[in-house]
Amino acid sequence: MLRPSKYNHICFNDDGELLIANMYSNKMCKVSQDNAEYATEILRKEYISEEDDLILKMQKAGVLIDSEEDEDIRLKGSYLEEQSKPILLLTILPTEQCNFRCVYCPEEFSRGKMSEEVQKAIIRYVRQNINAYTGLRVSWFGGEPLLAMDVIAHLSIEFMKICKSAHRSYTAGITTNAYRLTYDVFRELLSYNVLSYQITLDGLKRTHDAQRMLINKNPTYETIVKNLIEIHEKSKSGKFVILLRTNFTQSMIPDIPEYFAWYNKKFAKDKRFRVFAKMAGDYGGERVCSMKDELIRQNQRTGEFFEAIIRSDIHELRFANRSFFARNGAICDASRKNAMVIDSEGTVRKCACHLNDDKGNKLGNVLDLNSLQERKSGRMRWSTLNLSPQCKECFFVPVCMGMTCVYANIKYGYACCPEEKIYIDDYFKLFDRQGMFGYID
Ligand code: SF4
Ligand code: SF4
Ligand code: SF4
Repeated sequence: MLRPSKYNHICFNDDGELLIANMYSNKMCKVSQDNAEYATEILRKEYISEEDDLILKMQKAGVLIDSEEDEDIRLKGSYLEEQSKPILLLTILPTEQCNFRCVYCPEEFSRGKMSEEVQKAIIRYVRQNINAYTGLRVSWFGGEPLLAMDVIAHLSIEFMKICKSAHRSYTAGITTNAYRLTYDVFRELLSYNVLSYQITLDGLKRTHDAQRMLINKNPTYETIVKNLIEIHEKSKSGKFVILLRTNFTQSMIPDIPEYFAWYNKKFAKDKRFRVFAKMAGDYGGERVCSMKDELIRQNQRTGEFFEAIIRSDIHELRFANRSFFARNGAICDASRKNAMVIDSEGTVRKCACHLNDDKGNKLGNVLDLNSLQERKSGRMRWSTLNLSPQCKECFFVPVCMGMTCVYANIKYGYACCPEEKIYIDDYFKLFDRQGMFGYID
């Protein structure tokens, strides 16, 4: 006997076809208009005793499950298994200064470059603790990390030596504005095993330069694009991924088709490049106040935003957004018990966004390893799985586990739903346009 999984989500596309996805199995499928009503009927049933081709295919996609299966236990088990992966995750801020002043940036730029003393303390920490883990994964973050390339070089070389002699894996990623990411710098980073790059390009030149300017207000678009094209054309390496994030504002909506046409021409054929389309958000700070009228969500223009993307030529684009619909895909790293953020002064935190909150977001300092041991219990507070009754019944829980933003959970006492859940039907239509929903009838 079968029954529908509680983690299914369905909606119809504009052709009246039924789009079905299961958030636990991470499978997406669709049923043609002719059979859509029958499939919907099956999904409304408490139990399904009959068997036909469509039912079997729905079972294979994880949309229908064995009626004896306890989905809560299965989900908890898979979450705990994922969490128990003993890899040390360090987000390191080699400098908190930046050469840009983006209009939505929440940073205060009050701290500078990491001292040698702090670097030595981090190296000591990694050397003393690496044997407790299967590997080390570092995320270089800032400010703009490439302003402190010497710190990245020094720490990377030491981490690679430590991991090599301990027979542990070592990989890294970087979030950079890419202004200084020349081909030579990129090659150097690759030699330090920096394999994933998150780079923001806010649409076409006109909008990018209005949002992401240098401190002296000079434009940045041409330099970034030149760097990206050079990497695309010159690099033969197949081991890196560049995620091009775009923070769309209201006035960028009409440009969306042109932006994706440009992207198609430049990078769509290069499998190492991915698009990450986001609506610009209010992440706090003073600067974003001046552009509140430009935020798509606040002005309820999300429908137009998604329509403009769907209308664009997106067939060949690889949307990084898809990974935020995978199991555990929308959980913030701050919830992982082996994850820590180390700022440029050695302060150890959990959340990478609220770097001035010493009360709610501080575990100690890497210069004083004893303080870190004592704060272990504080670390657990960020990792405790405590699903609210609402989350327990939510179809999206395998993706977010109520931990999309643990900082907000602790501060407000309840879990905030991720954007991906709120606009799931729009995302499904977008993925459908890209052919991600395969027919099962
Ligand atoms: S590049 Fe990043 S850190 Fe620098 S101003 Fe822009 S958003 Fe802020
Ligand atoms: S806890 Fe929230 S604010 Fe902090 S890094 Fe995660 S998502 Fe960002
Ligand atoms: S936070 Fe929202 S999306 Fe996540 S499980 Fe809870 S109710 Fe669902």
